[in-house]
Amino acid sequence: MTGKLKGGKSEPMALRLDSSVQYIKGVGPKLGDIFARRGIKTVADLLEFYPRAYEDQRAARNISSLQAGEIVSLKATILSCKAIPLGTSTRKIYDVIVKDNSGQVSCKFFRVPYRGYFDRFQPFKEVRVVGKVLFYKGRIEFHHPEIRDIETDDLPQDAIIPIYTEFDGLTRGKILRIIQGTFSQLEKEDTESFPLWLRKENNLLSHREALYQLHHPNPDLAKEYMDFRSPAHQRIIFEEFFWLELFLASRRSGFKKEKAPLISNEGRKTGQLLLSLPFKLTSAQLRTFEEIKEDLKKGSPMHRMVQGDVGCGKTLVAFLAVACAAESGFQSALMAPTEILAEQHFKNAQNYLNPMGIKVALLSGKTKAAERKQILADLESGDLNFIIGTHALIEDPVKFKNLALVIVDEQHRFGVEQRGVLKEKGQSPHFLIMTATPIPRTLAMTVYGDLDVSVIDEMPPGRSPIQTRVTFESKRALALNFMSDQIKKGRQAYIVYPLVEESEKIDLKDAVTQFEKLKNQFPDISFDLLHGRLKPENKAQIMQNFREGKTQVLVATTVIEVGVDVPNANLMIIEHAERFGLSQLHQLRGRVGRGSAKSFCVLMLGYAVSPEAQERTQFLEQTTDGFKIAEFDLQMRGPGEFMGTKQSGLAGFKLANLIRDVGFLQKARSAAFEILQKDPQLKHLDNQKLREELLKKRGPAVLAGIA
Ligand code: ADP
Ligand code: MG
Repeated sequence: MTGKLKGGKSEPMALRLDSSVQYIKGVGPKLGDIFARRGIKTVADLLEFYPRAYEDQRAARNISSLQAGEIVSLKATILSCKAIPLGTSTRKIYDVIVKDNSGQVSCKFFRVPYRGYFDRFQPFKEVRVVGKVLFYKGRIEFHHPEIRDIETDDLPQDAIIPIYTEFDGLTRGKILRIIQGTFSQLEKEDTESFPLWLRKENNLLSHREALYQLHHPNPDLAKEYMDFRSPAHQRIIFEEFFWLELFLASRRSGFKKEKAPLISNEGRKTGQLLLSLPFKLTSAQLRTFEEIKEDLKKGSPMHRMVQGDVGCGKTLVAFLAVACAAESGFQSALMAPTEILAEQHFKNAQNYLNPMGIKVALLSGKTKAAERKQILADLESGDLNFIIGTHALIEDPVKFKNLALVIVDEQHRFGVEQRGVLKEKGQSPHFLIMTATPIPRTLAMTVYGDLDVSVIDEMPPGRSPIQTRVTFESKRALALNFMSDQIKKGRQAYIVYPLVEESEKIDLKDAVTQFEKLKNQFPDISFDLLHGRLKPENKAQIMQNFREGKTQVLVATTVIEVGVDVPNANLMIIEHAERFGLSQLHQLRGRVGRGSAKSFCVLMLGYAVSPEAQERTQFLEQTTDGFKIAEFDLQMRGPGEFMGTKQSGLAGFKLANLIRDVGFLQKARSAAFEILQKDPQLKHLDNQKLREELLKKRGPAVLAGIA
């Protein structure tokens, strides 16, 4: 039922979801370009430009009843509009004060939306203010709200209306009209790809109906819409998670079809290794090792991530796996994020594995040419069982005789693409990924949803918990005195100056200055300075001195280099702790608390830190449970910050939210995995559309899984 155009023009053409937006009535090539720049090219793209919120204009609100955090829409009158100069600079803040008969509230603008924007706001003018209520410096206010003239408002009045993000001069009203208009032009093709039983089981609207309702909210369900819980939201959120999970499930079944070296260990070497240890494995370590052994026997490649706090003994479990591989005559490689860590792993490996007759070598930037040549030859001939190094290991023209196991320490720096490099070398080794950053459940189901996960949630006995205190730069003297006391007791300490990339130079200068000061202030204590710009051999020497106790306090700027094992160090002071995520801080502080002495971590906050940052860091005083910390960190910072934007982009949700919508994620994941388990190639008639749609969305990458 397309509307007739005036002036004898032809009927607007019927649209399909993949038609270009410019054929939508009222769009055309020029507006089409504007949409395209925003990534909206097809009708489907436009219909998936979902409202970011809804405005309920009927909910008459008094200014006096506003609550921080809510998005509101209220009628008010302009009281005044002033530009406030900002100190000596030419910049200004605009402050528009509006009132109703219950009170007044200030609307601040830190930039001018466009020239002449504020001319409209004459006293007594009636406006509608829409925005999020903030609590700022003890008062309720709005920042950059939408202020519309009631007289000329082009949005429908007195109903619930979608709020779209405005762009390139396109107003909400215009976006709304174009999107709503599109529906009447849409062909009645069947766009449903979910089988009926899946919809029934999960109580889901049809795809088309859900799209329609998102853009035409039902006034009777205002609250559901505002909470993103309307039936339409439920369908689309479920669906977004579902496609990701179906993709992950198919990738996993793709892994299972590859042929990997069969490692059916007879247990002699691992048994020997276990007996040689001066301690017993924790039950979490044993369980993880069992899970790994099961994987290695299957004949398809293992893709397993082992999570556990720093010091829980992941490396040892990895070495056990290396022993299994060696026992079956295969080679292993371990990749560490830095050379210092590679060296430390190498020393440990020599300790544990050499006595079993497992030959280990280290390949690093320092390796001399002749030695390097020998190592490469031994890897190719199979004389070496185990090679340790940085990522250069896979980038170099290193050839293996029969590489069967790749261990990656700290997966954050080692993405899916790099795993792919090894496969291109014609091998399908087993992967074991070790990470000290506990991954919250939601992320484990999405970003890492194609990996199997083992969790080592238990510390070896005899560790004392780390006591953590948050304090301020102004109390530095106290912290340093405490440090001096610990040194007198024979302990060692770290002072960490985290570098932030953009201001690396300034930060480094900070650390150097502080280092010089400390030396003067405490002449009896021996200090050393470790930073990223030193040559590898210098770094190694500095670490060596600290490990041997020749240096008492290590001032370090490079976070990761501190990933070493020095049990005598029992104090860590972290400067500018507010700049870091909780998981990172938690990981850092794990460097102490490795010996039997009571350990301490002091988180020092800069002068100008927000109350929020203070509250956030104080969470670390309360718990040493890495999972709790990771969950809290994720809630506070959101998935983008938590993961690094690149990795979280893998998910690419338009409507779904990992924190708000966990329940749907769980359901969608079970459904997707169940479907693929019952019908691995998606061959059933019921699943035809799923198959087509999955291929369309994820491309040939999924073929390995469902072919
Ligand atoms: P992670 O790699 O998880 O940070 P490591 O494997 O480096 O931890 O172990 C930290 C320290 O704990 C090492 O010195 C290691 O020898 C020791 N360790 C590992 N497992 C145990 C255990 N079950 N009991 C006692 N000490 C252990
Ligand atoms: Mg480790």
